[in-house]
Amino acid sequence: QKWTYSFGGGAAEGRSTMRNLLGGKGANLHEMSAIGLSVPPGFTLTTEVCTHFVASKGDYPDGLNDQVNAAIAKLETIMGAPFGGGADEGKVLLLSVRSGARASMPGMMDTVLNLGLNDEAVEILAAETGDGRFAYDSYRRFVQMFGDVVLGVDHYHFEDLLEDYKLDHALTLDTDLTVDDWKALLPKYIGAIEKQTGNPFPQDPRQQLWAAIGAVFHSWTNKRAQTYRMLHDISDEWGTAVNVQAMVFGNMGDDSATGVCFTRNPSTGENMFYGEYLVNAQGEDVVAGIRTPQPLSNSEKERSSLHLPSLEELMPKLYAELDDVRHALERHYSDMQDMEFTIQKGKLWILQTRGGKRTTKAALKIAVDMVSEGLIDSNEAIRRIEPSHLDQLLHPTLDPKAPRDILGQGLPASPGAAFGKLVFTAKAAEEWAERGEAVILARVETSPEDISGMHVSKGIITTRGGMTSHAAVVARGMGKPCISGMGDITVNVKDKTLTAMGVVLKEGDLVTVDGSAGQLMRGTVPTVEPEFSGDFGTLMGWADQVRRLGVRANAETPTDAKVARGFGAQGIGLARTEHMFFDPERIIHMREMILASDEQARRVALDKLLPYQRQDFSQLLSIMEGLPVTIRLLDPPLHEFLPDQPADIENVAKALGVSAEDIIRRSKDLHEFNPMLGHRGCRLAITYPEIYEMQTRAIFEAAADLVKSGHTIYPEVMIPLVADREELTRLKALVVKTADAVLAEQGVELSYHVGTMIELPRAALQAGEIAKDAEFFSFGTNDLTQTTYGLSRDDAGRFLQIYREKGVMQFDPFVTIDQAGVGELVKIGTERGRAERPGLKVGICGEHGGDPASIHFCHDTGLDYVSCSPYRVPIARLAAAQAAL
Ligand code: PEP
Ligand code: MG
Repeated sequence: QKWTYSFGGGAAEGRSTMRNLLGGKGANLHEMSAIGLSVPPGFTLTTEVCTHFVASKGDYPDGLNDQVNAAIAKLETIMGAPFGGGADEGKVLLLSVRSGARASMPGMMDTVLNLGLNDEAVEILAAETGDGRFAYDSYRRFVQMFGDVVLGVDHYHFEDLLEDYKLDHALTLDTDLTVDDWKALLPKYIGAIEKQTGNPFPQDPRQQLWAAIGAVFHSWTNKRAQTYRMLHDISDEWGTAVNVQAMVFGNMGDDSATGVCFTRNPSTGENMFYGEYLVNAQGEDVVAGIRTPQPLSNSEKERSSLHLPSLEELMPKLYAELDDVRHALERHYSDMQDMEFTIQKGKLWILQTRGGKRTTKAALKIAVDMVSEGLIDSNEAIRRIEPSHLDQLLHPTLDPKAPRDILGQGLPASPGAAFGKLVFTAKAAEEWAERGEAVILARVETSPEDISGMHVSKGIITTRGGMTSHAAVVARGMGKPCISGMGDITVNVKDKTLTAMGVVLKEGDLVTVDGSAGQLMRGTVPTVEPEFSGDFGTLMGWADQVRRLGVRANAETPTDAKVARGFGAQGIGLARTEHMFFDPERIIHMREMILASDEQARRVALDKLLPYQRQDFSQLLSIMEGLPVTIRLLDPPLHEFLPDQPADIENVAKALGVSAEDIIRRSKDLHEFNPMLGHRGCRLAITYPEIYEMQTRAIFEAAADLVKSGHTIYPEVMIPLVADREELTRLKALVVKTADAVLAEQGVELSYHVGTMIELPRAALQAGEIAKDAEFFSFGTNDLTQTTYGLSRDDAGRFLQIYREKGVMQFDPFVTIDQAGVGELVKIGTERGRAERPGLKVGICGEHGGDPASIHFCHDTGLDYVSCSPYRVPIARLAAAQAAL
């Protein structure tokens, strides 16, 4: 079996397609070598060697030793120098040993440089380069790196020796040390290793090499790497490759340099050569930030305020050569690259290339530009953008360069960023906002009563609740940043304090919310406004051409509906009418209705609500002119609307002409142990049909008016929480009777549809029966997930987190649809529904409608549309396009 693959000298045994075997870094080194770029020659030990090494607890496969020897011999020929040095040739080959897994794991594993140096080779290197200081400096760097990485001797042992030496000799900077100083220090370094390990420092280059290879393979299983893999969904099975490569030096004088560069600007996407370099330096000096790196090109130099000489100025020929490499790599990979290079005594070497990380803004610009440059087609451009990253463009974001004083971490429930003064009740939020203050509302959790306070807040945090908690859903709908489930902070509403990391904040203290990262910060962090460049529109246009799934929005306020339409929503898939009742002016009538003792009294209260609803529906239908609007009749358990403040109780009592005690008693009667499984949804209307009757009347009075004034509208009435056909049969009859009566009264003709939500397992199983009445289905996957798993959507967040950490669950089923269970029910429901009613229109309106992975599932399952919160509409459009490719 082949365990090693060589590259260099214009040839390579591997290619970029062999990523799994050679690792990302290795595969690209082979590729660059094969296309004739100047890459220091070397060889790759495959990831299979790693798998073998890990499984056998440190053994190597048979035949590896011979293959490594052969690969080194090849290297020696290309470089014309023997590994570890030959006094006869007067030359020495030194090696670097680096990890390189399939997916990049920056800084997680180990690297050894300058390998092959020993007491003899250092002299040969000194003679060969004519630079004794360089040779001894390289040797001591190697001893320290080998000691630390391979032998586990901590850096401080060496640093202490260096500091003592400097003190004794009145030296301050490393650069003050001469060749003789380094020569004097080396035995101390080597002595430290011998003292710490009890073994002599290996002088034999091959022994050094095998020890370094072992250390790099071993680093695959270190704690750091394991944690990184868990966080980034990288399999433990993959293993890392090891790349052994001839060393080249950027620190051999003023004709040497080293740098990192991007083939395009990674933050703006601009097609310009972008990078930094240092003269006479090693790679880590550029990254370490000890010296200020210089700009690569003249155009970058002009933009910078530092006026440091560019590479283009200092080494124009080498710059031109590097610029050619840049174009060659972009043409070859058809993508923006992130490269590392070294110039050793006037010769350019390319050390690494990989797809460059970029901001979403840059990703859009690069994708769109590359289509017009003919590098990729529009489908490839669509594939290149991660839909969920579009979020970054749709909300103001925190300036990534600004420092953060972090107070706590929770779930990134709704993206965006905001700062403001802390308040602890919705009432306080409204009072402060009225005075023109920006506020952040902190609650244990929010309830529908908090809506208006949430509305005036810039951001919301809750210590409880998950990604589909009330706060999360409402905040996403409002496009406001929200962090939920911040278990590490304590909110004390009575004392008006928030305690985090031992810090106690009071009402009015300034905090910043980063809803995208789920971070709460003390004080303010500056934000940057979203920008909708032409590239965004261009890409979304391409996406719309290829997608099959429709995209609608969950919206019930005019503001949300307008935002949704602006983002390209093709209608409203869910208007939750209960959200329309929380306005202070309306809730009093709602309470009268709920607390009324008989139908008569209930109808009096409903009549007061009717004009409000008519106005709401009129606005929604006209904003969505020409597009369907699905209006869901009342869904939540009634007790959510009940008063608990004494003043509110008094008001309702007065309005109903009863005593406060009566109100309190009636409220108690309405109490349920499991309200989510209780008297809600269509069950409300089976007991109190007049509620749906009023809502239907309001919809069709509004619709009739609009039709009369020449509008084209498509109202759809949706009945929630149906479990059995009989519920729908009765309620549909009520809706149709009421609607037709209104249309007849008004003398208007209008076609409309009555459908249902499928959000209970029984409804999915009974979909064939239900479809006899239902003219459309919309899967309510929030409730369907809750009821399929038997998991409370409001409380499960905290322990689901532990499930995920322990690996019991790979994802949050309230965020990404559980295809194996909930998804099965969606499939069954769709099939049975369509078997009964061919062509039945089927959508989804749970939170999953805005989740890219779930959208793929919806596409594959043949749904007609997804409906999501307004700010996720562009994400859904792009994800739907990717699903169709
Ligand atoms: C659902 O249950 O998925 C749904 C959309 O309805 P709600 O979130 O209002 O219960
Ligand atoms: Mg529901």
